[in-house]
Amino acid sequence: MATILDGRKLKTKILANLKSKIAQMEEKPSLTVILVGNNPASLIYVNNKKRTAEEIGINSNIITYPSSVTEDELLAKIHQLNKDDSVNAILVQLPLPGHISKEKVINMIDPKKDVDGFTPYNFGKLFSGEIPFVYPCTPKGILLLLDEYGIELDGKHAVIVGRSNIVGKPLLQMMLNRNATVSICHSHTKNLADITKTADILVSAVGENIIEEKMLKPGCVVVDVGIFKDAAGRTRGDVDFENVSKIASYISPVPGGVGPMTITSLMLNTVELFEKSKKRL
Ligand code: NAP
Repeated sequence: MATILDGRKLKTKILANLKSKIAQMEEKPSLTVILVGNNPASLIYVNNKKRTAEEIGINSNIITYPSSVTEDELLAKIHQLNKDDSVNAILVQLPLPGHISKEKVINMIDPKKDVDGFTPYNFGKLFSGEIPFVYPCTPKGILLLLDEYGIELDGKHAVIVGRSNIVGKPLLQMMLNRNATVSICHSHTKNLADITKTADILVSAVGENIIEEKMLKPGCVVVDVGIFKDAAGRTRGDVDFENVSKIASYISPVPGGVGPMTITSLMLNTVELFEKSKKRL
């Protein structure tokens, strides 16, 4: 049976250390989250972020707007937050309503306060092999989890299924930085199983239950990023956990794997941005 990559346990450990570090700070880091509309999943995510931040001593502030807010109003608010020295980290909860350009909104965030690492500046730094202000939260959390279990990337073949800007693309570069050989697959990939079977490390970030035991090499490491509700309302990941865990060496569960690591990385990034802002003074 595979060893479980326990994101909850690692989250507890990292956040306890972070809490002690923040307790010794005279001034506290701050995280501002902008939430537009009342998407139920977004509300849960934003409240979790606020609760976690407050538990470890980060000042957090949620700014809410109705879904009718104009793009200009939102851009003006971000401009104001950029100029406010008491704000270290800005996160705009996605998705945004259709009349608002996600790109314009993200582009408006000062890269020095871009806690998700999504601005073109930070993305560009990442892809040019330089160091961004922070690394995107989910890929960062995945690497923290692999590191915790001593899983080496150097020389390994990592296969990522999913090429989104929040998971697949930044993870590709971050794994390359660690000298893995990386393949990235998506909905147009032909013969997906032929590629996944060659993976030493398989990361799936699709949002559908597509990874079966027969698509994998025995002994591979499996990281399941996907999270969705099935027809019966149960929380599921991309991977057939029951059968895949019989042949994998390590596997992350859903829930309790990558999810807790994403929020952990958000807290780490908030503190990193705060510390960098203090060094600039
Ligand atoms: P996304 O933007 O919808 O991207 C999904 C990716 O999967 C796309 O690249 C898509 O290919 C690919 N794909 C779809 N069907 C496929 C198929 N049959 N075979 C191969 N590839 C396929 O999603 P996302 O935002 O990256 O999120 C992916 C999943 O991870 C979701 O379930 C999300 O909730 C979850 N997630 C979890 C966390 C966490 O912290 N646990 C964080 C982020 C996301 P194309 O590019 O060709 O469309």
